[in-house]
Amino acid sequence: MTALLSHHIAGAARPSTGSASLQDLNPSDERDIVAEVPVGTPADAAAAVAAAAEALPAWRRLTGPARADHLHKWAAAIEARAEEMAQAMAREVGKPIAEARGEVGRCIVILRYYAGDAVRAVGEVIPPQAAGALQFTLREPLGVVALITPWNFPLAIPLWKAAPALAFGNTVVLKPSEQSPVMALLLAETAQAAGLPAGVFNVLLGTGQGVGEALLRAPEVRGVSFTGSAAVGARVAAIAAERNIRYQTEMGGKNVVIVLPDADLDLAAKLTAAGAMRYAGQKCTATSRAVVARQAEGAFLEKLREQVAGLVLGPVTDPAAAVGPVISAAARERIWSALAAAKGDMVCGGSEGTGVTFLRGNFVTPTVVRGVDPASPLAQEELFGPVLAVLAADGLDEAIALANRSRYGLSASLFTRDIGSALRYISQIEVGLVRVNGDTTGVDPHAPFGGMKGSSSGSREQGTAAREFYTETKTVQVHPA
Ligand code: NAD
Repeated sequence: MTALLSHHIAGAARPSTGSASLQDLNPSDERDIVAEVPVGTPADAAAAVAAAAEALPAWRRLTGPARADHLHKWAAAIEARAEEMAQAMAREVGKPIAEARGEVGRCIVILRYYAGDAVRAVGEVIPPQAAGALQFTLREPLGVVALITPWNFPLAIPLWKAAPALAFGNTVVLKPSEQSPVMALLLAETAQAAGLPAGVFNVLLGTGQGVGEALLRAPEVRGVSFTGSAAVGARVAAIAAERNIRYQTEMGGKNVVIVLPDADLDLAAKLTAAGAMRYAGQKCTATSRAVVARQAEGAFLEKLREQVAGLVLGPVTDPAAAVGPVISAAARERIWSALAAAKGDMVCGGSEGTGVTFLRGNFVTPTVVRGVDPASPLAQEELFGPVLAVLAADGLDEAIALANRSRYGLSASLFTRDIGSALRYISQIEVGLVRVNGDTTGVDPHAPFGGMKGSSSGSREQGTAAREFYTETKTVQVHPA
């Protein structure tokens, strides 16, 4: 019998008030039931928000150095359980173990960075019009903030929201994906072991319908940071706008590499294969389109095929696996039907994984399709799987136009050795994360992160952008009596 999980509210496990639950399955082997997850109820959401509201006054009164100290201790608590957390992540979301270890390491960096931010100088002194007065700005926390997160970075995304929220004096209710509740509870356990005050960081389990919307509508919630699909992001933004609370939504992508004839084709092929196929293409910044100069297409695709063949598809228990399963059977079906309907020539892949180890998991063979119609779903829709659509272009201008022909605008990379082409691309490409001769995936936690067009709304996350989101500005004038 698999354990039924509980919320983490006010520093303790709190069972859901409802009885409905879902199964959390290991994507590499669906016979392995990781946990039973409560669907959650509006009453559960109200309890989590009440706990965060109760913890707020004492937390926001703490000094910056005191809050920094808590975040440093949280980083140490994660470090102490790093391997266990990486293994749990591999099992729960199917992330290959090397990448899971990398994500845990990144969490430690995130917490330490925002611990530093809690003690960094803020505010301005502004010359007043009135003689003898003093005018300055203060930054204050928003209050209780809701964090709604997806399953694909089940530690890093919750933490890159929670760490700045807490550093600047907010308290948090995290609603993780119903497909990664165990990882969220590990965050709560480590926060508790680090001595964070009860109620400062709460985890509310359940679905969007069960608890998500009730959380967004709770009167004490003053801001929401969301990462997930475009459709849900639009709904979250609509509710937040109606309530006039602060929001940011980080959503999908149809990330693109452009390969020019003067590029280092070996490098381009290696990084395109990695960006498209590692973790089965399930990073929001994963490469899903390649726009290739027509005269380089044959040579590039030959090298790309070799690179893709070098990435091992397998269950994440295999330490060599670079391409794990996709998250669910539903995701696998969605990807297969998109491939079945696609027009173009298969360069490689296009089938399910075969062999005994693949029988019970959600595997899709890394697939590259060339000659794809730029208007077709394969070139336009986010598949969130190990699938790359290749489009041919004549020259840089056509390549940039094809790259920009998307409702999304998260990440792009150009492969070239020509500085002039690089500068033209940097100014014309419509994405938030612009790379030259790099992978479309991967972000530094101290640099602003987010996209253009349908990929994001509201302010950027991470780096100095985080303070803008998680604080309000007060402009203060003090006059002599
Ligand atoms: P999803 O949109 O299905 O779910 C995201 C979260 O929203 C989950 O916690 C879910 O329970 C919750 N939710 C669902 N309906 C809701 C509602 N009505 N009200 C409130 N909350 C609700 O996304 P997913 O499948 O978990 O994640 C994959 C998606 O996330 C992909 O589209 C991917 O591109 C995107 N993503 C984007 C970024 C980024 O930074 N741009 C990063 C990672 C993932």
